[in-house]
Amino acid sequence: MRTRFRGITVREGVLVHGAAGWGEWSPFTEYDDDEAVAWWRAAREAADDGWPAAVRDTIPVNVTIPAVDAATAHRLVTASGGCRTAKVKVAEPGQDVGAEIARLEAVRDALGPDGAIRVDANAAWDVDTAVTRLRLLDRAAGGLEYAEQPVPGVADLAALRRATHVPIAADESIRRAEDPLAVARAEAADVVVLKVQPLGGVRACLRLAEQVGLPVVVSSALETSVGLAAGIALAAALPELPYACGLATAQLLTSDLVTDPLLPLDGAIPVRRPEPDPARLAAAAASSDRAAWWAARVERVRALDRGTTRRSLR
Ligand SMILES: [Mg+2]
Repeated sequence: MRTRFRGITVREGVLVHGAAGWGEWSPFTEYDDDEAVAWWRAAREAADDGWPAAVRDTIPVNVTIPAVDAATAHRLVTASGGCRTAKVKVAEPGQDVGAEIARLEAVRDALGPDGAIRVDANAAWDVDTAVTRLRLLDRAAGGLEYAEQPVPGVADLAALRRATHVPIAADESIRRAEDPLAVARAEAADVVVLKVQPLGGVRACLRLAEQVGLPVVVSSALETSVGLAAGIALAAALPELPYACGLATAQLLTSDLVTDPLLPLDGAIPVRRPEPDPARLAAAAASSDRAAWWAARVERVRALDRGTTRRSLR
């Protein structure tokens, strides 16, 4: 990673190859095997089945601004490849609200008055804190497009949504929830964030989007361009795409596995599926210790997936 992001500085994962091409399996290392099964299904779909047809050929994307200082935030927007929307990380442990206000003001300055700014708090606040913070951050940003998962849990999201005029997006409450439809039933969000790997593949996300019936923002799980291609395929296949997607995250990596990474041009990523490059794969290879850890994890999760698939067929 160029900058520490969601607590990690090195992104690890596995590529799988099948009849339909390459898939990426990169569940975060702290996730247990049960949670990693959905991620495995997404990789298997990419490798074995490929993805449904696209209905558009470019995907508008946001630049993602980690919890960096104001000058860095400004520079990241300027260097984003023309993104007209910025997603700014807030509620970073150890940072005060002054740093967040300065970051948002810098992002507004770099984007200009027509750009859209959203914040992501990764469920770090309680409802009262979120109401206060969103008032301050909305003012600093000159208007927020939405706030992504400001508080944990569907009940808290619904309570916050009634107490603030800032639109609410659900992320963790969809992808790490037992029941991803609870958000819609509770009228807890205006927007849902869908991520292909945690939700088990492009087709699973398309079905979920239809059931939820809310606008969808497709976001990455910090994949290389091999994994990002699945997010691009989902965004390309959705009937409606009213918001910029969080798929410009190849920018957060110091290197990629393809020679032509999925990076934005004029604020959008063209719909395509780049192939990994053998030399780049070799350069990114894990140490033998890490490779052994991942190989064992693959075996356990494949066994779990076969078990749950058999159960669900009965
Ligand atoms: Mg998020």
